[in-house]
Amino acid sequence: MATPRIHTIRKMKNIQDHIPKMGYPYRFIGPEDGYTLESIRRGILVEKEESAAGDFPHTIREHFWIRGGEHDGDSWISCGELDNGNYFFYTASCDYTGFDCQGGMNLWVSSSWKNIIDHAMPEGHYKLYLEQTEDKLPPRCDQCGRHETLYKSLSPPNSLMCNLCMRYNHVLKDEQWGIRPDETGGRFSV
Ligand SMILES: [Zn+2]
Repeated sequence: MATPRIHTIRKMKNIQDHIPKMGYPYRFIGPEDGYTLESIRRGILVEKEESAAGDFPHTIREHFWIRGGEHDGDSWISCGELDNGNYFFYTASCDYTGFDCQGGMNLWVSSSWKNIIDHAMPEGHYKLYLEQTEDKLPPRCDQCGRHETLYKSLSPPNSLMCNLCMRYNHVLKDEQWGIRPDETGGRFSV
């Protein structure tokens, strides 16, 4: 029997740096470029109804993991969350001439991340995803929501904020802010 897969959401470090790699395949999604959403959507075995993807890829709220591809080589892979709360898994590959000549794309969307992991990701992709992601990212900044090194603020009490938000607030209300380093390892001095 296969080992059960891990269903907690795991994320790639510095994911923002990898997003540009997806620009190339994403650009071909749409009726003009031959890869309509209808033609690239794939069903999820255990789900009777298709989950909404909206105007994918413009509806992507957050990427969890990206693997860049190349012509006639590795496929492009991405997964993450859409702005309607659904999750997606996407793969694309093309021959040496590019997507405008010979290529293929697949898009799975589900309201359940567990179903994406269990019923969309092939074994090889799942192994790569495990290798290249981690399950313990720093918490989000209370103010802007970014995953950054956070600092504990005294005002409002015990709120966690990133460096930028701390500085911004500090500029706004200098004297009302008390700031000390947090156990997350952050250092902040004013
Ligand atoms: Zn922030």
